[in-house]
Amino acid sequence: MQNLPEEQHRIKYKYSYKNGSGEWVTVKDYTDSDNVGIKLPDIPGNYTVRISSLDSTGNYASKYCSILVRKDTKTKFADNGSSASADPANPGKKIKARASFTGGIMPYKYKYSYRKNGKWTDVGGYTYSDTKEMTLPSQGSYTIRVAALDATGKYTSRYIGITTQDKIVDYNTPYTVKNFNSDVIKLTNTYPGLIKKSIAGYSEQGRGITLLTLGNGPRKVCVIAGIHSREHITISFTMRCIEEYAKAYYGSGYYGEYNVRELLNEFTIYFIPMCNPDGTEISVNGADPSVYIKDLDKDEYKANANGVNLNRNFPFNWDAEYKNQSKDPSNPSFAGAYGASESETQTIIKLCDNNDFEWLLDMHILGHGIYWRDSKNGVIPGDYEFTKALSDRCGYAMFENTTDSEGYSGGLENWFRFAYNKPSLCIEMIPHNQGIRSDTYIGYNSFFDDALVWNKTKYTYLAALAAA
Ligand SMILES: [Zn+2]
Repeated sequence: MQNLPEEQHRIKYKYSYKNGSGEWVTVKDYTDSDNVGIKLPDIPGNYTVRISSLDSTGNYASKYCSILVRKDTKTKFADNGSSASADPANPGKKIKARASFTGGIMPYKYKYSYRKNGKWTDVGGYTYSDTKEMTLPSQGSYTIRVAALDATGKYTSRYIGITTQDKIVDYNTPYTVKNFNSDVIKLTNTYPGLIKKSIAGYSEQGRGITLLTLGNGPRKVCVIAGIHSREHITISFTMRCIEEYAKAYYGSGYYGEYNVRELLNEFTIYFIPMCNPDGTEISVNGADPSVYIKDLDKDEYKANANGVNLNRNFPFNWDAEYKNQSKDPSNPSFAGAYGASESETQTIIKLCDNNDFEWLLDMHILGHGIYWRDSKNGVIPGDYEFTKALSDRCGYAMFENTTDSEGYSGGLENWFRFAYNKPSLCIEMIPHNQGIRSDTYIGYNSFFDDALVWNKTKYTYLAALAAA
């Protein structure tokens, strides 16, 4: 009891701080300790530290002091996993950059800049916006820099290479494998959120068979072009469509009357734009086949490197039709040693087996119409309505049912019907009066729009999506 008066006069202390006009943060509530270590946050600012005291009789007092925590602008923050990307917001010079940063202390501030010919130009100062639309001064190649400051002022940055131009696909020049691969890279770099590239398989001579997917939707469909190598304009056509649809997706959202943004958010189109790269190299670039071909006319060549007409190599009625036929690769109708003997054929089969495609289009040029039903497979659910919609919009004739065995045996579209019971069309693009020349298949690309009736056929893939 003797100690009581001393107890009454004991003083307790409370320690708090706040950043600027922020909330008070209590470090230690009323305690006997007359000194306490305080670790202020890494976030820069003007801090006030308060020590409140209370004695046993209830008398209250407090003292304040100010501490400035400076920004650390010399240190880079750990940014593993940070990234930046850019999409064209419109065809041409307008782009939208996106930042996705990790590490450091949130929130981040961002600053966007572009470099052209070695000179950096800032597009505004630091803001909290993780996307930025910018209009580049001209078309060409740029480096975009996204610089980030974390809440403590530490910095980091990411760079994006981007090429802006009116068009990537040069459809007036027939594609070699090299030019095709180069355009594929430009397309995927320009539209990374929409167009993706992978290798579906390899040709007989070991060239990669490129798969380009367009769209982000759960429903899948398939387009094969260039199976007959001399019909390489179907590759150019397909690549031009991919680019124009992607431009429209990031632009107005519409391509003609089609809401391309909505369609490509519902569907993903699996394109094999050049499914016979060896044959394309033979036809367009003068490369050599792997086998002896008598009277080889490269401009007229339609097979793969083994002389096989791939559109007769699919395992549908193959044995019945071709088992006892000539195995001479010089014959333009040579269907291969057996069904699916060729790696190009196997690549397409594997792709179709691994994906539940709702339909398949196989692109050719001889005529301006659609082969849509064969007598062996008979009626496929929805085949008439699907074909009719395409025919109405794009002007293709609906050809008579294929009834001769050589017309449907081993055919890609016929095999697809047989394997999956889903619509599968062979589309012949060029009207007979519009550039089908008997002497050579060179030169179509020079009058591309007229030859393909581009103003109508450019809707082919969208009309097919809308019809499905
Ligand atoms: Zn063909």
